[in-house]
Amino acid sequence: MLNVVIFGAPGSGKGTQSEKITDQYGLKHISTGDMLRREIKSGSPLGIIAKKHIDQGQLVPDQLITEMLSKLLKGLGAINGVILDGFPRTVEQAEALKGIFADMDQKVSVMLNLEVDREELIKRLLIRGETSGRSDDNLETIQKRIAVYDEITSSVIEFYKKEGLYKSIEGTGSIDQIFGRICKAVDAVLEKQA
Ligand code: AMP
Repeated sequence: MLNVVIFGAPGSGKGTQSEKITDQYGLKHISTGDMLRREIKSGSPLGIIAKKHIDQGQLVPDQLITEMLSKLLKGLGAINGVILDGFPRTVEQAEALKGIFADMDQKVSVMLNLEVDREELIKRLLIRGETSGRSDDNLETIQKRIAVYDEITSSVIEFYKKEGLYKSIEGTGSIDQIFGRICKAVDAVLEKQA
């Protein structure tokens, strides 16, 4: 099994690269942001709570998101592995994920950190906002999301460094260039597993 965590600030290209990784390695793409947006669309109780946090650029509480993800992971049938996009976003979530995977006799295989500078992140998110229809892709909320990333989410990097699972990926260049760097890192993990 290959379980990849794709990590990075908002706008670092996690979603775009996840789709390419999914195609290449036959993994299941799990985006907690997409899951929450589906909950909001359906008007579920979780969606109603999530919307308040998302529109403020804040994180959805750990317990809610972890329960949602745990249910999904434990309900998966036979698969080659998963790519987690947008989770974990706190050290508590990273620890919870370790526990959920342990219950399933699984583990994170690698954490890929897409590194992109600030100016480029904001530029990409504003361009995305012109067509995404996302209520959080506006300058004010983008700035809050990046601040939340700096204050809370970035500590997840240290967690995976300590676990020995961290890989830095230069996240600028063409989509295919970045994907090439990712494949190199993932292939090295697969070689080790073999
Ligand atoms: P994303 O689509 O990954 O950019 O996520 C959009 C928004 O959903 C985030 O700004 C958070 O409000 C919320 N969200 C997504 N994943 C998580 C998570 N793992 N923990 C907390 N909130 C999350």
